[in-house]
Amino acid sequence: MSIKHISKSNFITGLQCEKALYLKKFHSQLADEITLNKKNIFEVGTQVGLLAQDLFPGGVDSSPEDYSKISESIDYTKSLMQNGIEIIYEAAFEYEHVRCFVDILVKKENEWHIYEVKSSTHISETYINDVALQYFVLRKCGLKVSGASVVHIDNSYVKSGDLEINKLFKIVSVLKKIQEKSDFIPLKLNDFKALLLEDNIPSMEIGKHCNKPYECDFKSYCWKHVPEYSVLNISRLKAETKWNLYNAGYLYVKDVPLETKLSSNQRIQVDCEINQTELFHKQKIREFLENLSNNVFHLDFETFGSAIPKFDGVKPFQHIPFQYSLHQEINGQIVKHYEFLADSNKDPREPFVKSLIKNLKNRR
Ligand code: SF4
Repeated sequence: MSIKHISKSNFITGLQCEKALYLKKFHSQLADEITLNKKNIFEVGTQVGLLAQDLFPGGVDSSPEDYSKISESIDYTKSLMQNGIEIIYEAAFEYEHVRCFVDILVKKENEWHIYEVKSSTHISETYINDVALQYFVLRKCGLKVSGASVVHIDNSYVKSGDLEINKLFKIVSVLKKIQEKSDFIPLKLNDFKALLLEDNIPSMEIGKHCNKPYECDFKSYCWKHVPEYSVLNISRLKAETKWNLYNAGYLYVKDVPLETKLSSNQRIQVDCEINQTELFHKQKIREFLENLSNNVFHLDFETFGSAIPKFDGVKPFQHIPFQYSLHQEINGQIVKHYEFLADSNKDPREPFVKSLIKNLKNRR
């Protein structure tokens, strides 16, 4: 195989699992379909990235028309710097087959500062590695880099009036942390380059790393031997215990050895599977139901949270209710159904609550 290019996202994937990196580069057709949830995460990331550019207004965007034209972006970034542009969005660089985009690159007193924007509320080790790779590439490309920061969402911000992006975002220097990785980054890049020259898919057992820090795109391929209901589905069992069972060769819940330390509820789950039975606490259910009135409402509701708060009094990612359905049951019979769906352009909280109170008043 050939190295082709290693992007920043390839690098992060490789740190999670080398097999995933290899599959991504040479067998991308084996990847799972992108879920709506993942698409949504990308979309939010893009929106947040664009908004954060306003923290450094007046820059020039160097992102490519499409990602098959990255070389053009690399040349364009170079020409922008040569022409004295001091704020560049999506600045592109390449050093020895390693490519990266810098979300916001700012020149201050003849030295450059990297800003990596994240739609998260905290800084993780993955983000540090992400910025450390950019720092490595830019310095190898001959830039003097004196600053590197992660720009992330501050979830203590509460919107009041116009959106205040200086309060919505927190800028945290990670320069010291990434400098500590100056040996690690080239070492890992060499490992990945060697890996990508291999002819065969590297062997790698499944494990905790398949979901951390991100859910891997190749789970259908690597996990096909795992049954839909396996030891990995034992409720609230520590990940370490689950993987110890799996690595010891126990795949099915019914095969969990007796000496495994389980909580009483986990023991019930395993025993029910072994005996192929179901367990109902009929007496407890009866006692609970007897305490209810004969006129009850069943409420089901949905909320949404957004990184960029849309309404006053709301924090980033705060859950806002926008839809409900309500069933009224009298003497065990569903007698009425109510529902509410907010207007997507308006703050749904007050209409939601007013509608709910109105319908609950129908209680006899
Ligand atoms: S599913 Fe797990 S083992 Fe397979 S490539 Fe992804 S992270 Fe690696």
